[in-house]
Amino acid sequence: MDKYDVVVLGGGPGGYLCAERAAQAGFKAAVVEKRALGGTCLNEGCVPTKAFLYCAKNYSAAKHAETYGFEAKDVKINHAAVVDRKNKIVKTLVGGVGATMKSNKIKVYDAEGSIKGRGPEGFEINAGNEVIACDRLVIATGSVTAVPPINGLKEGLASGFVVTNREVLDLKELPKSIVCLGGGVIGLEMACYFSTVGTKVTIVEMMPKIAGPTDADICKLLQKTYEKEGMEFMLNAKVQEVGKDSVTYEDATGKHTIKCDKVLLAAGRRANISGVNVEALGIVTERGAIVTDSHMCTNVPGVYAVGDCNGKLMLAHTAYREAEVAVHHMQGVKDDMRYDHIPSVIYTNPEVASVGYSEEKAKEAGFNVKTYKVPMMMSGRYVAETLNGDGFCKLVYDVDKKCLVGVHMVGNYASEMIYGAAMLLDTEMPIERIKKIVFPHPTVSEVIREGLFMIK
Ligand code: FAD
Repeated sequence: MDKYDVVVLGGGPGGYLCAERAAQAGFKAAVVEKRALGGTCLNEGCVPTKAFLYCAKNYSAAKHAETYGFEAKDVKINHAAVVDRKNKIVKTLVGGVGATMKSNKIKVYDAEGSIKGRGPEGFEINAGNEVIACDRLVIATGSVTAVPPINGLKEGLASGFVVTNREVLDLKELPKSIVCLGGGVIGLEMACYFSTVGTKVTIVEMMPKIAGPTDADICKLLQKTYEKEGMEFMLNAKVQEVGKDSVTYEDATGKHTIKCDKVLLAAGRRANISGVNVEALGIVTERGAIVTDSHMCTNVPGVYAVGDCNGKLMLAHTAYREAEVAVHHMQGVKDDMRYDHIPSVIYTNPEVASVGYSEEKAKEAGFNVKTYKVPMMMSGRYVAETLNGDGFCKLVYDVDKKCLVGVHMVGNYASEMIYGAAMLLDTEMPIERIKKIVFPHPTVSEVIREGLFMIK
């Protein structure tokens, strides 16, 4: 029986980074991955969706060519080529993870893994037909699309009329119309791609607003932008049934049926631990997710859970950091996982990014805050690049501590700027100190610095 210091179940961002960091720390490590290294993130999540959105952004620019001073006649989308390009990107990145595993001498088992139990050599893990042993086990089995109990949904998934984030990225042809069940991040990003390239998109969302906990003014702007493009939003709308070629929902005005070519199921994700056999070790779970402490330890000494499977904050960058914290714990290095300054981004056009408290949440948490709204038009670069831009940045300022506790942006480059805001929040940098930092000009990031001068 092969024996390892660390075995990781799942080769997504949480799993592969954990194995990499463990190997770099001197542990003999193995990863058991049943589908493809890179997990949801590289194969059917973060990266492929961004490949799609980049094509959409360029397509949109080409369609408005005259605005930018060039001619582009008969601009057409070639969806099959977009998918091909995405596949190449995925292949490159997945290959890169494989190469990293190899260079760090990490054994990769292309197999489904599950916990067999305890044996004389430590934890015993089934890796396909083999049994391997380890001193420390990291569960990093990710998440799967949540399938709510809606009439006809399972049948729709079986027939291919309903697709998830997995199938939608491999559609051979553009649907003429698509209904997104759910107006959260995943639904919105895919809606942004399809709407831009000419598909009629309708979002059906149960809540009164799109984009979950995102700042309400930002949500309104995003919705307004897409409504101008022809996207339709059915809010406070509960889906009742998925038919053969339709979706029926109910809102305050009654029942409505929308005919469509495809349905995208984007009503959330749930932690995936099915088949892992956590029961064999008595690992505690709560609502289907593995319970962990701030070191990513489960209740069983030597067993960790990182990434989506612990259900804490389902983002790839959270998974990365959790992986590092877990390895630090194995090494005896002091480190704690904190979730307070993790940025969240929606890669629509315009992009949305935020970190820290909204004004409302800050007040609820007892902070004495004021919010300052800075138009992105204050940035020369934004004006130069954005047609009729109405993006903005909201700074949530702690009046007592004289530092920022929240930054919320809508406007392009927000995704690239938000880490800077996270640093300002995480270091509780006083605004008088930030004002002494020189920001490059012209950049959209200057709106953050400009905003500080509004603070009274
Ligand atoms: P995963 O990436 O899900 O990896 C888990 C791996 O474990 C999978 O490869 C799976 O095959 C494997 N596995 C499961 N069970 C077993 C088993 N029993 N044996 C062996 N292997 C197993 N996050 C962001 O931060 N930014 C984004 O822009 C973003 N965009 C997204 C877009 C979409 C459409 C989706 C669906 C998600 C997106 N996410 C994004 C979320 C992000 O993909 C996840 O948070 C991230 O992938 C979680 O990493 P993980 O390692 O925990 O799990």
